Amino acid sequence: MATHVDAIVVGAGFAGMMAVHNLRKQGLNVQGLEKGPEVGGTWYWNRYPGLHCDVESVEYSYSWDNDLQQEWNWSERYASQAEILKYAKHVADRFDIRGRFAFNTEVTGAVFNESANEWTVTTSAGDSYVAGWVVMATGALSTPKPLDVPGASSFAGETYNSTDWPTTPVDFSGKRVAVIGTGSTGIQLSTHIAKTAKELFVLQRTPSWSVPANNGPLTPEYLAEVKANYPAERERKKHSMDGLGLPGTGKSALEVSDAERTEYFQHIYDNMSPFTFFGSYTDVLVVDEANKTISDFLGSKVRERVKDQAVAEKLIPKSYPFGTRRTCIDMGYYEIYNQPNVHLVDLLESPLKSITPTGFSTEAADYEVDVIVFATGYDAFTGTFKNMDVIGENSANLREVWNEGAKAYMGTMSVGFPNLFIVTGPQSPSVLSNVVVSIEQHVQWITDCIAYLTAQGYNRMEATQEAQDAWVAMNNEIGQITVHRDSHSWYMGDNVAGKPHVVLPALMGVGPFRAACDEVAADGYRGFALAK
Ligand code: NAP
Repeated sequence: MATHVDAIVVGAGFAGMMAVHNLRKQGLNVQGLEKGPEVGGTWYWNRYPGLHCDVESVEYSYSWDNDLQQEWNWSERYASQAEILKYAKHVADRFDIRGRFAFNTEVTGAVFNESANEWTVTTSAGDSYVAGWVVMATGALSTPKPLDVPGASSFAGETYNSTDWPTTPVDFSGKRVAVIGTGSTGIQLSTHIAKTAKELFVLQRTPSWSVPANNGPLTPEYLAEVKANYPAERERKKHSMDGLGLPGTGKSALEVSDAERTEYFQHIYDNMSPFTFFGSYTDVLVVDEANKTISDFLGSKVRERVKDQAVAEKLIPKSYPFGTRRTCIDMGYYEIYNQPNVHLVDLLESPLKSITPTGFSTEAADYEVDVIVFATGYDAFTGTFKNMDVIGENSANLREVWNEGAKAYMGTMSVGFPNLFIVTGPQSPSVLSNVVVSIEQHVQWITDCIAYLTAQGYNRMEATQEAQDAWVAMNNEIGQITVHRDSHSWYMGDNVAGKPHVVLPALMGVGPFRAACDEVAADGYRGFALAK
C-alpha cells in the first residue's frame, strides 16, 4: 500500500534537510527518505580520520536562520567531520527535521505516472510513496566510482574505503599501509596515517595541488566579529563567483612585477583560503601564461617543503592547469615525505599492475603491505542515479539517458523527467563553489518553484529540450574560454571508465547562476513547460 504525500525529498544531507524544512513551512505534506541511519549526508558517510572541510567553518553553514548562525560556535577554522556532523544533527533537532525522514531507507526506483503527473518512489524496505514533486537531494559526490584497480578483491589483508569508513577507530600503528589516490581524500588520509604506520606507501597517479590549511582554534573575538557581520557578508557572498566572496586584485597576473605577484601569492598561501588563488588575478583561470604563474609559485612551495628534490618534482602537477582539478588544503601533507617511513610510489613512472594477495605490484616492483586504503574518488553527479531506476516519460531510464552525458536545465531538471528536481545537479555551480551557498540557493529556488506551481494549480513542470540544449551549450562555451577547455578530471566525468566527457559543474559562477535562476522564475519559469 503506497503512502501518498505532496512531496518526497531524497537525502538528509544539508540539501535534503533544508528542502524538508522549507516544504513543510509551505504547508506541504513532505516525506524524507535517507539511506543512512542519521542526517548529515556526506558528513555522515565520510568519517575517515583526518577529514576536515576545505571551506572555512564559519562559511560552511546555513544562513537561513539568523538565531542558528548567531548561537552556533565553530571551534576551528576548518571544521572536522565530527564537528560538521554534530552541527547537522543540531539543525535536525532544532528544527524538528528528523521526524519527517524515514532512515535506513534507500530509494531503489522512481516511476513517473504520466496520466496522474505523479512519481511513485520505491525503497529498499519495500515501501512505496506517491507524490507530485520529488526533490533529489542526493549530493554530487555521494557514490564512489567503481573500484577499477585490478586484483582488488584478491588482497588478503585489511582494506578500507574512504567513503565507507568504519565507525570504530582503525589502528595503523606498526602496520605497512598503502593509500591509493592523492585527491583531497588521499592527501588527508595519508597525512593522518603517516603519523603511526610502520611504512606508508602513497600511490600517486596524478598529483594534486595542495595549500596549507593554517588551521587553528577560533577565538571568541573572531567569532563575535563574524557574527556581527553575518547578515551583510552572507548576502554579499551569495552574489559572488564562488559563494565565498574572496578578494582579488582586479589586475592581470601578467601586468604586475614578479615580486609583487609573488608577495601577493605568499600572502594568500600564509593566510587565506586556497580558493583565493582563483580570483587573485583576473586572467588566471583564462590565460595559460597567467595560470602558470600560480603553478610556478606553488611548485616552489613544494620544493621548499619536501627535502628530497626528486620526490618534490614528482609531487608537482605538470599535466593540467591550476584550478582544473580540486585544490586541496593540507595539514602537513608534503612534510610526510620527509619521514623515513613514507614512500611515494609514482604510478606515472611505473603504472600499477595489480593488487596481489599480499600487497600490490607496479611495473617496476612488488610491495608487501598489511592494509590497503582506497581513496579513489566518486562517480560525481551521476553515480547515485545509476544505482536506482528513475523512469520518466516514455519509460526512459535516467541512467540510460545520462549515459550520453548528464544534462539538466538550470542544473535541476532533465528533459523527460517532469516534476523531478535535482539539487546541485549537472550544470549547476555546486562543487565549484562553497557548496552550502549553492545548496541554499538551489533549494530555495526549487521550493519557491513548488510553492508557485501549487498556488497556481499546476501539477506538471518539465524542462524543454530547447532550453536544456541552450543551457548546456552555454556552459560548454564558458568551458572553452577558460583553462577548463583541455581539462580531464572528475569535473568532466573523465575519472570513470566509459563516462562521457561533459562539463558537469556550471562554470559561470554562483552569483550569475543565482541571477539566471531568478530571471527564469520571474519570467514564469521560462524554458519549462507548465501544465494543469
Ligand atoms: P578524487 O579527487 O577523484 O581523487 C581520486 C584519486 O584516486 C586520484 O588521485 C586518482 O588518480 C586516484 N585513482 C583513482 N582510480 C585509480 C586507479 N585505478 N589507480 C590509481 N589511482 C587511482 O577523489 P577524492 O580525493 O575523494 O575527492 C573528490 C572530491 O571530494 C574533492 O575534489 C572535493 O571536492 C571533495 N572532498 C573534499 C574534502 C575536503 O573538503 N577537505 C575532502 C575529500 C573530498 P587520477 O587523478 O590519476 O585518476
